[in-house]
Amino acid sequence: MFNLILFGPPGSGKGTQSEKLVDKYGLLHLSTGNLLREEIANKTPLGIEAKKFIDNGQLVPDEVVIGMVDSYFDKHKDAKGFLFDGFPRTVAQAQALDKLLALKKTDIASVLALDVSEDELVKRLLNRGKTSGRSDDTNDEVIRKRFSVYSNETSPVAEYYKKARKFKNIKGEGSVEEIFAALRQAIDKTMANYKSL
Ligand code: ADP
Repeated sequence: MFNLILFGPPGSGKGTQSEKLVDKYGLLHLSTGNLLREEIANKTPLGIEAKKFIDNGQLVPDEVVIGMVDSYFDKHKDAKGFLFDGFPRTVAQAQALDKLLALKKTDIASVLALDVSEDELVKRLLNRGKTSGRSDDTNDEVIRKRFSVYSNETSPVAEYYKKARKFKNIKGEGSVEEIFAALRQAIDKTMANYKSL
């Protein structure tokens, strides 16, 4: 298997680029944000519980998210690889992911981090809020809360993968195609050197 993580703050373009990357590389897109929004739309108990956290700009508890990822793996046993988007968001999630992948005799090949300035991020999120119908994108205070959660809880995940020498920064400003090209270049290089477990 060949597994990648697309990393970056809210609004950095993970969703947009993920769609293009899974097409190009034949990976399965695992977005915990999308899975949670599906649960909310279906009004499942998990969705109803998760909505409270999401609407406050907080993270959904680790055990809920990890359980969701585990059951996604169970449903897609023949995947040739995954592109993780918005996961892991805490060090505990990163450790759990390593364990789940080890059970599948695989690992993370690379973590690609989209680098975007905070001014640009706020602009993009407020813009997205106008059309996405996402309640967490329309409120200034919720957006600010998500940034503070990102710097307190999610940034340490970058350190975790830097220690494992898997972390790569990618310029996340420019046109969608320019950013996609930069990601492809990094992925092709990783693929050429990757030794699967
Ligand atoms: P964005 O990265 O643009 O904020 P996402 O769609 O990835 O959007 O996530 C939206 C919200 O869903 C997050 O603010 C958080 O509340 C929740 N969420 C998504 N993924 C996770 C995760 N891995 N762990 C905890 N909460 C998550």
